[in-house]
Amino acid sequence: MALSDAAKVERNETGIATVLGILKQRFGERFQTGQSLREQHGHTTTYIPNQAPDGVVFPESTAEVQEIVRACAEHRVPVIAFGTGTSLEGHVNAPGGGISLDTSRMNRVLAVNAEDLDVTIEPGITREDLNAYLRDTGLFFPIDPGANASLGGMAATRASGTNAVRYGTMRENVLALTAVMADGRAITTAKRAKKSSAGYDLTRLLVGSEGTLGIITSLTLKLQGIPQAISGGVCPFPTVEAACQATIATIQMGIPVARIELVNALQMRALKNYSNLDYAETPCLFVEFHGSEAGVAEQAETFGEIATEYGGGPFQWTAVAEERAKLWKARHDAYWASLTLRPGSKALSTDVCVPISRLAECIAETEADIAESGLIAPIVGHVGDGNFHVLVLMDVNDPAEIERAEKFVGRLNMRAIGMDGTCTGEHGIGQGKMGFLERELGDAVDFMRTIKAALDPQNILNPGKVLPAAH
Ligand SMILES: Cc1cc2nc3c(=O)[nH]c(=O)nc-3n(C[C@H](O)[C@H](O)[C@H](O)COP(=O)(O)OP(=O)(O)OC[C@H]3O[C@@H](n4cnc5c(N)ncnc54)[C@H](O)[C@@H]3O)c2cc1C
Repeated sequence: MALSDAAKVERNETGIATVLGILKQRFGERFQTGQSLREQHGHTTTYIPNQAPDGVVFPESTAEVQEIVRACAEHRVPVIAFGTGTSLEGHVNAPGGGISLDTSRMNRVLAVNAEDLDVTIEPGITREDLNAYLRDTGLFFPIDPGANASLGGMAATRASGTNAVRYGTMRENVLALTAVMADGRAITTAKRAKKSSAGYDLTRLLVGSEGTLGIITSLTLKLQGIPQAISGGVCPFPTVEAACQATIATIQMGIPVARIELVNALQMRALKNYSNLDYAETPCLFVEFHGSEAGVAEQAETFGEIATEYGGGPFQWTAVAEERAKLWKARHDAYWASLTLRPGSKALSTDVCVPISRLAECIAETEADIAESGLIAPIVGHVGDGNFHVLVLMDVNDPAEIERAEKFVGRLNMRAIGMDGTCTGEHGIGQGKMGFLERELGDAVDFMRTIKAALDPQNILNPGKVLPAAH
């Protein structure tokens, strides 16, 4: 299905005009309609076209979010939650216009319960700001998408990152949340207890719902103790397949790796140039271990031995914080580094995830497909989870090239689904992957539509996302 058909939403001109007037009067300077700000609140990160909202509002409390949602509900106007806008699948676009609800002023830490290892926050705080706030407590929040995203956006996309292999994703790390629902009521989905069997699990329904079922106004998150020691480094391999086999062996042997990230040769070239790294342009694994001093040293040694078995190495590792920080900053900057491989290009980011036993096969077939398609497309991956990204660099002025890239992505997504995997391990569906949801989940999508219709009968919460229209 073409993106434009899947994501179509009718504009309600009268309703939008009325709500613009209401919000201007109620929020004054905290409601803006300038073109550049509106465009910044549409999709900006990839080749998916920007669809700007009609206005942007900056609430400061749950009560204000309720007021905004009630006004939008009364006049049937779309309301699209916005964190930092780093999502990659057109999530924050406004295909039928409407209001972008920017949570950046809701960025307070509400309570740190250090003894219980949890924290309650507002959704607009970013992951880096939260960790800076927590530093003196000896605790940290481990989920780390490459961008400095908001925690609300991360919960809404069920995000993860390099640490997920050890600490899980947002799904495992949100204990409870408060959300404003489409009728304007605010609900809290759970208390702070570590376990609960109390009714349907609305926390996990809202985590990953991409702003289509409710607007999150607070989150209670699990925290972790900052590890006593961390070791990490980079290990080269002759082929991507060898690197994947070493990853699979590491995971299957139960080595408690905290991060294990694949970077292929082309991506390595980009990282070397962008971040001034001194490594060979071959496939590499970036690896990190958390624990006691003796524990992390032993794990690094064992990993080095596994790498050698698969023809890799030497595994150069360090426990020096600054050196590790440089490596992981480079890894987190992989997206921006890739863009320098083809100046002026726009990226299309893929996000498949397969059972780890199929990973080597999936990446090998994908590399062959990239070569046959004649695309420039480096690969990075959270391979400990079976998740990898191909970043297709495109000339967006060349329709033939866009078509070639989209066909490649279609084959990649179907390859992962065919291996009992998913088209999206962490980025979400947004607009870009709507065409693959039914192919992955079949009739389950009908039940998702039933949930959406029950919770948001007027379809005002981020319409035109996640669920393709029923045929
Ligand atoms: C360089 C780069 C690297 C990345 N690396 C990773 C990665 O490793 N792992 C990963 O998972 N992602 C990654 N991403 C994608 C992105 O960072 C994540 O999807 C992130 O979770 C989005 O957060 P955000 O605050 O930017 O949300 P936004 O883009 O602002 O919003 C994303 C979605 O969440 C909804 N939303 C936002 N706030 C709320 C709220 N309070 N209530 C309800 N819905 C809300 C929006 O409506 C939208 O549907 C990367 C992106 C970039 C640009």
